[in-house]
Amino acid sequence: MGKAVSCKDIGYECMFTACAETEAELFEKTLEHGRVVHGMKEFSPDFYNKVLSSIREEYCDLEDELCKYEGCCC
Ligand SMILES: [Zn+2]
Repeated sequence: MGKAVSCKDIGYECMFTACAETEAELFEKTLEHGRVVHGMKEFSPDFYNKVLSSIREEYCDLEDELCKYEGCCC
């Protein structure tokens, strides 16, 4: 079992789902995605809270990790 968070749960029209073993790793992936795909430069405490409350327990199939790079969504 891993942890997953979907970009659309944080409020974007986006198919990206980040998945990781730990919360810390999940945050890293989510922030990276925000920077690369959504051009976010800073992350507010609000954003962190949104991510935190959107995290769900899910089986982590890394093959399912979609939309990692710029231009593949949105
Ligand atoms: Zn996204």
